[in-house]
Amino acid sequence: MTPSQRGDDVLLFGGSFDPVHLGHLIIARAVAEQLGLSQVILIPSARPPHKDASQLTHAAHRLEMCRLAVAGDAMFNVSDWELHQPGRNYTLNTVNHFRAQRPGSRVFWLIGMDSLAELVTWYRVADLVAACTIVTAGRPGRPWPDLSALQALIGADAVVHIRRHVLDTPLVDISATQVRQRVAEGRSIRYLVPDAVGEYIASHGLYRAPIRA
Ligand code: ATP
Repeated sequence: MTPSQRGDDVLLFGGSFDPVHLGHLIIARAVAEQLGLSQVILIPSARPPHKDASQLTHAAHRLEMCRLAVAGDAMFNVSDWELHQPGRNYTLNTVNHFRAQRPGSRVFWLIGMDSLAELVTWYRVADLVAACTIVTAGRPGRPWPDLSALQALIGADAVVHIRRHVLDTPLVDISATQVRQRVAEGRSIRYLVPDAVGEYIASHGLYRAPIRA
């Protein structure tokens, strides 16, 4: 067994998932395949530090859409752990929770290139990059960010490790903002979200209100 095939190694993927879309799923599977991982856990966030939680769709909806999106796919699971935590959802706490569940296994945390640009602002980022491997997927229109401020915080070796884990994944030009906007405008979101998610959005009347960016 190679180091990349240990059974309990896991790819964690947190986000607001408002809603989960095919961009999320395509990059998550591509990264898992490249890293030789058989487990991906989607972790909807109740109160992401970088977003206004009052603007988010109710967590129960976002969680259920994640579950519908990956139903029947053995590679994916969905965790409601962050939804039950008090206060802000800091990635470090979440990573530590999942590490404690699988001693000796490696934990990877997936972000998009836009989040890499913000990583320097994340809570206790030096501890976070020591606790897990940050894996980055490219995103259309999001060039490589300047990582010099991050390097000042976490050191050159840690930045090299992050750079090595910017993987060559499909560039998928889908965002949750775009999905919400299209629904609000009465346009189709077919092929942007899994069918079951599209049906859920329609049947619960989500995102019909004026758009937020
Ligand atoms: P919004 O448009 O509401 O900001 P989003 O589409 O960016 O949402 P999030 O749930 O906020 O989705 O994203 C969770 C993580 O997934 C973030 O790290 C983000 O960078 C990444 N991500 C989302 N969509 C893509 C995509 N199409 N390609 C690469 N990464 C993505």
